[in-house]
Amino acid sequence: MYYAGVDIGGKNTKMGIVDDFGNVTSSMAYKTRMERGYDAILLEVIENIKAMCEESGIEFDELSGIGIGVPGIVNSRAGLVMSCANLNWKGVDLANDVTNLTGKACRVCNDANCAALGEQRFGSGKNFKNLVFITLGTGIGSGIILDGKLFEGLGCAGAEAGHMGIMYDGGDVCACGNRGCWESYVSASALVRQTAEAVEKNPDSLLAKICADGVSGKSAFAAAREGDATAKSVVEKYIGYVTYGIISLANVLHPQAFVLGGGISNEGADLILPIKKKLNEYIDNNGFYPYVDVVGASLGNNAGFMGAAALVM
Ligand SMILES: [Zn+2]
Repeated sequence: MYYAGVDIGGKNTKMGIVDDFGNVTSSMAYKTRMERGYDAILLEVIENIKAMCEESGIEFDELSGIGIGVPGIVNSRAGLVMSCANLNWKGVDLANDVTNLTGKACRVCNDANCAALGEQRFGSGKNFKNLVFITLGTGIGSGIILDGKLFEGLGCAGAEAGHMGIMYDGGDVCACGNRGCWESYVSASALVRQTAEAVEKNPDSLLAKICADGVSGKSAFAAAREGDATAKSVVEKYIGYVTYGIISLANVLHPQAFVLGGGISNEGADLILPIKKKLNEYIDNNGFYPYVDVVGASLGNNAGFMGAAALVM
């Protein structure tokens, strides 16, 4: 059977036709242009799903359902988008509107939860029924899968690991307005800030040279690979912050694995191996706890729409 998965972002929309085994028979990406408003965005999504069906050589009638991921607070049980700042949507009846326009079953969910589901069904989380998915991007996205099912909490407002507090009474300011959230230490923007601070204090370092044309989330890792001591300490501290949050999550949930996605996860083994080592040393200091794996995500930008498709499988 075939399903349409759609990942509507504030900037770009990605979508694809996916079968039960996770084969993507066609996919596309385009600018969302959120300023057009809800109705225009929705009609274009449906037109594009029809075009992808044609490209896949199937009739629109053969499509078994439509799943949609949206950034923001999404009540997936009710099919409602409660609030989505990136698209300026508030209280829209997305699942029902899609069903009324297409006659197809539709389910909607938070975009990070969709990506978590995508990785768990078809990506590097395939071997795990219990996992926590974390994207280390501009912000932090997270999804929790327990016994093969998404855990979303009351009103589907849970599984927001980025806003887990790691600092009481102070700490860095988070995008959510609070202080001391994990996100404000481990997002790509936080790493950029930490790198810029180190450059200011160590203007003669190789890191400072690499950052002369601008600081990115890659700068510190790149200079650390060249052996620069300043960069190494930035990376070590950053990985420490990431691991600290992961340890807390492991102590509460003890999943089989953490799956790391987002831009910073492209650092691969330089990021993942030290986290895996520190995590297991910490939680298993007496040798009784089961090993927890840490792996990189494997579906990249396709995880969101593939997971959205999995919502209706
Ligand atoms: Zn926060």
